[in-house]
Amino acid sequence: MLSPRFRLWHMIPFAAKYAWLRVRRRPVVVHFEVTMRCNASCGFCDYWKTPAEAKATELASFADAARRFDPMLITFTGGEPLLRRDLPALVREVAQAAPLTYRTIITHGGMLTEARARELWEAGLHQINISLDYLDERHDQARGIPGLSARILALAPTLVKHGLNIRFNTVIKDDNLDDVLPLVHRAASLGVGVNLSVYTDFKNGNRAHLIRGEQLAKLDALVAGLLAFKAQRRGVLSNSDWYIRQIPRWVRGEMTEPCRSGETTVHIGPTGNVRRCPDFPEDAHWREWQGYAPINCDRCYYACRGEAQAPLEVNRLRDLIA
Ligand code: SF4
Ligand code: SF4
Repeated sequence: MLSPRFRLWHMIPFAAKYAWLRVRRRPVVVHFEVTMRCNASCGFCDYWKTPAEAKATELASFADAARRFDPMLITFTGGEPLLRRDLPALVREVAQAAPLTYRTIITHGGMLTEARARELWEAGLHQINISLDYLDERHDQARGIPGLSARILALAPTLVKHGLNIRFNTVIKDDNLDDVLPLVHRAASLGVGVNLSVYTDFKNGNRAHLIRGEQLAKLDALVAGLLAFKAQRRGVLSNSDWYIRQIPRWVRGEMTEPCRSGETTVHIGPTGNVRRCPDFPEDAHWREWQGYAPINCDRCYYACRGEAQAPLEVNRLRDLIA
């Protein structure tokens, strides 16, 4: 489901823009990591250890970078982007600098309120993505934020009722294989979409949540269930069928294709430096950055890697239309 602000006719200029960007080998998706600070304490990510002093070096505006890259999709992410009080201003400036872009935010949701969501929406967002890996207090424990899952599940339908486009970002890992389909059904009942990715230990070396051994059969069953859900109901899961079908291949170590994420997707950090993906070191500042070639790396199966490899199937168009 795309934003209610986004009309079917927008697909025409967006398709032209996609072709233009690909011909010029420019990124289609740009993630602005507006801060690396975070007030959660996840065991699989060390961003929350970023010192508070880092705030002093964060860019005051991402508008010039947005104008220069002018991609199709812009994400405001982190760290936790809502730690920046000036986030609505950052969004507004970017929306003005690159108006033909689909703009989203990724947040853990612990500081999201109806008022803040509406302020961001008015500033020019099309979608708000909230991380949610479990429907119960296991999510609170994993993120180190008491009451988080209940808060998200209460707030999301309120925001949907006010016309905002909400999606859950859900990471498939060892201990939520039985929870993902119920989460997708719950999201659908709330009018919320779901964007799936798969756990990697590349962020900080925490191998505890890797899917292995007897869990692989459960993963196969989950993938079959997700594809069956998509066949019945499009517009809830934003991942392509292809991405979902490939998950077991990656988990079993059978995926050997080079990663194209840096070709189509880049991350621009809080100080303006570019990375090919969230888990690689910074390269040049965005003003000097020249582009990335595919790389032989198999460390993750984030959507930015998997969807960059996905062929344009008929089902993908059906997803967009749905
Ligand atoms: S995974 Fe997200 S919420 Fe957790 S510490 Fe990292 S940036 Fe914060
Ligand atoms: S597979 Fe691609 S997106 Fe994933 S860590 Fe490697 S370079 Fe980054």
